[in-house]
Amino acid sequence: MEASINIHEIEEKWIKLWEEHKIFEADPDSRPKIFVTFPFPYMNGPLHLGHAFTASRVDVYARFKRMQGYNVLFPWAWHWTGVTIAGAAKRIEEGDQKIIRVLIEIDGVPPEEIKKFTDPVYMARYYTNENRQVVRRMGFSIDWRREFHTTSYHKAFSKFINWQYITLRNKGYVVKGTHPIVWCPRCKSATGDHDRLEGVGVSPERYILMKFKFKDAYLPAATFRPETIYGVTNFWVNPEAIYVLAEVNGEKWVISEQAANKLSQQLKKIKVIKRFNGKELIGKTCRDPVNNREILILPAPFVDPDNGTGLVYSVPAHAPYDWLALKDLIENPDPLIKYGIDVETVKKIKPISIISVEGFGEYPAIEVVEQLKVKNQFDPKAEEATQIIYKKEFHKGILKDNCGEYAGLKIYEIKERIIKDFIEKGYADIMYDLPRPVICRCGTKCIVKVLENQWFLKYSDPKWKELSRKLLRNAKVLPPEARRNFEEVIDWLEDKPCTRFSGLGTPLPWDPKWLVETLSDSTIYMAFYTISKYVNAGLVKPEDLTYEVLNYIFLGKGDPNELSKKTGLSIELLNSMRKEFDYWYPVDLRVSAKDLLPNHLTFFIFHHAAVFPEEKWPRAIGVNGMLMIEGKPMSKSKGIFITLKNAIKNFGADIIRATLLLSAEGFDDPDWRNKNAEDMKRNLESLYRFVLQLYSMATSDNTRKELNMIDKWLLSSIQRAINNVTRNLEELKTRTALNEALFNVWNLLRWYIRRTEKINGKVILKAIDIWLRLLAPFIPFICEELWAKTGHKPFISLAKWPEYKEEEVYMEAELSEMLIKETLEDIFEIKKLFKTKPTKLVIYVAPEWKWSIYRDIAQLLNSGVTMLNDVIRAVMKKPYVKGREKEAIKLIKYSYEKLVNLSKEER
Ligand SMILES: [Zn+2]
Repeated sequence: MEASINIHEIEEKWIKLWEEHKIFEADPDSRPKIFVTFPFPYMNGPLHLGHAFTASRVDVYARFKRMQGYNVLFPWAWHWTGVTIAGAAKRIEEGDQKIIRVLIEIDGVPPEEIKKFTDPVYMARYYTNENRQVVRRMGFSIDWRREFHTTSYHKAFSKFINWQYITLRNKGYVVKGTHPIVWCPRCKSATGDHDRLEGVGVSPERYILMKFKFKDAYLPAATFRPETIYGVTNFWVNPEAIYVLAEVNGEKWVISEQAANKLSQQLKKIKVIKRFNGKELIGKTCRDPVNNREILILPAPFVDPDNGTGLVYSVPAHAPYDWLALKDLIENPDPLIKYGIDVETVKKIKPISIISVEGFGEYPAIEVVEQLKVKNQFDPKAEEATQIIYKKEFHKGILKDNCGEYAGLKIYEIKERIIKDFIEKGYADIMYDLPRPVICRCGTKCIVKVLENQWFLKYSDPKWKELSRKLLRNAKVLPPEARRNFEEVIDWLEDKPCTRFSGLGTPLPWDPKWLVETLSDSTIYMAFYTISKYVNAGLVKPEDLTYEVLNYIFLGKGDPNELSKKTGLSIELLNSMRKEFDYWYPVDLRVSAKDLLPNHLTFFIFHHAAVFPEEKWPRAIGVNGMLMIEGKPMSKSKGIFITLKNAIKNFGADIIRATLLLSAEGFDDPDWRNKNAEDMKRNLESLYRFVLQLYSMATSDNTRKELNMIDKWLLSSIQRAINNVTRNLEELKTRTALNEALFNVWNLLRWYIRRTEKINGKVILKAIDIWLRLLAPFIPFICEELWAKTGHKPFISLAKWPEYKEEEVYMEAELSEMLIKETLEDIFEIKKLFKTKPTKLVIYVAPEWKWSIYRDIAQLLNSGVTMLNDVIRAVMKKPYVKGREKEAIKLIKYSYEKLVNLSKEER
């Protein structure tokens, strides 16, 4: 018998046949449709196993739905937009050895190609060509006629982006404005989530600067809680940090050197007069802006000059850190002595209580520090204490009588008013900073820049948010628990810049010095797949895709006759494109890894809600975990990275698909382990041999015709498998589904062989037929090969998905087989208890009266008698109980416990 299997040969053979027969090319017809998409990958490198995991899930769903009889479209495209490719090209040009090494060693780029990579478009094209082969080799069921890439290097796509942005602007969702954004000083560009090495999801935070008077200058202390100014007791300065005296918009300010740099990017005119050491301020006094009280400046090494202005005022009654720092100074006064500060004066500093909050007394900060047993300011629990107080006081706090005109008011209600008042009175100013470091892909630490006259997507617009919430409510989210994450992002999402000066992209139609940036041209491009086929076939030229033409195709607006006259496009073509869009849209499922949830997938929701009518909104959004490799998060710079092309070379597509799909579903992170792939290789090889062996048995000995108990058991169990796999695939539970389809069905067949002396050929053939069809979406190559080798015509990819048939469920056969299995397992367990090998086995079967009790209880429960007492009363009346009442009672109770929790069918 043929036993060897050349996976690569099989894969190449079927790719060729699929393409020759164009079986994944999908055009509108009378069948119901399914349109699935995977986010176009970014072409700054080779595809990796993370792409393979998510895309395999999409492909499994596509193949499953295709077999169910849907007309399925799964298209593919490539993302070129942004600064990453251009940035890499620049680094190569500068001779950056680190990136060149990664390109050669990890990406596998031939050294002679590297010098050509100084052209970003060459690089993008190189990876596009390489990765197209990789996607084909993975067996993804793609309609390649619709392929495209982004940026002005694809004229038709740029036309589509023009249409999208004019549409958004007409609706008021693209606006010019002044906003704080995360900014890379080296790239001189906004740094979106996709442009970051570190700090994904970090956005600028607003600090209020409370301007303490200091001689003829100000000490602006940064805070999120300006209302606490009424409780200030002292001021904190880091004696080791460098501060500057600077002219800021005409005033004199003392701030950290870093703060001066940051403020110069935030529409403030800064002129540094002198630099000096923080210790020069220690021991001096300043005056608070509100009550003009004299405030002592104390040494505070914990004050970070790179956070805010590097100046902090102290409110020990309501800020745990301030209380702890003050306490630490009194307990260990060395720093005070060093700077010549009178220790007794510091000891006399008393917290000032200004907020009353339910559940706390005078000094909430001190109370929570004591409750949590926070030792000192370096104790990690200090942060926890701070969070508790901040939240409690913000939501429940009421300002006390010593808070001037705000006395008696709730903090959350008057916070914004206080800020406005303080700024107007000249007590306060504003500064933006990042709560955590953000590192640009170019390796530079980012800052906050306040940009004027920048184009923004107005994600803060309440009307737009409401539409997006509605879209989400109508859509299916997989896994369902991801819905909460989307709701939260929609609520908090703020305006985002949508253009930049550098990199690759499509020029903004009305202000072409700007390019639409990477997270802003990837939101509704799935609509473009419906017509890119016509562009690629040369039926329509990019210049024909005017705003009016696209308005007709995507929104049905305008008169095709007039458009035809105006553009020279035939009415048939215009209508055909319109129909094509109308047929395929909306997107039925889009899946991505969870890192894209707060940006890409949420923007996908917003833009669809803005541009399209409700019936064209996406129907389902899937999210999955982030790939780990051998238990560690993937990282190219650390070498924890496997390119998909290498994985294919080592294992082949089916093994990769099955290994990844079995490793996680839902929100869990899949973990690629080479050992698992090796195991899967052995599994699939033995599956291949096993199926062929069964097939040859079934076809060579086909004399037994009648269905016996074990035949019925197999057929029935397979019906259950069909039901399980189908149900789980509908919910995109690809791991559960594959586990059932692969291992469970395999076990059923093994058991069948073990339990039959003479197999029923017809039953086996039927089982193989169903088994292969259940497996085809997951491991399509091996299944095509086995499908052909077991007497079918190609293609299994187009075969009918097995349907669950109630009439082939044989409950009795399943139960009797379960009993045998369980008895065997029990025997095996008992055998383990013996030190020597037992020579004799006796199975005792319960006497008939005990069975009668069991059966009667089952019947009672099924007829609705569920209370134990009622069951006892009924069974005790039965004649077979007579003379053994005591024993019977015990057995009734025991059986009742066993049976009451089972379903009707199981009883
Ligand atoms: Zn940069």
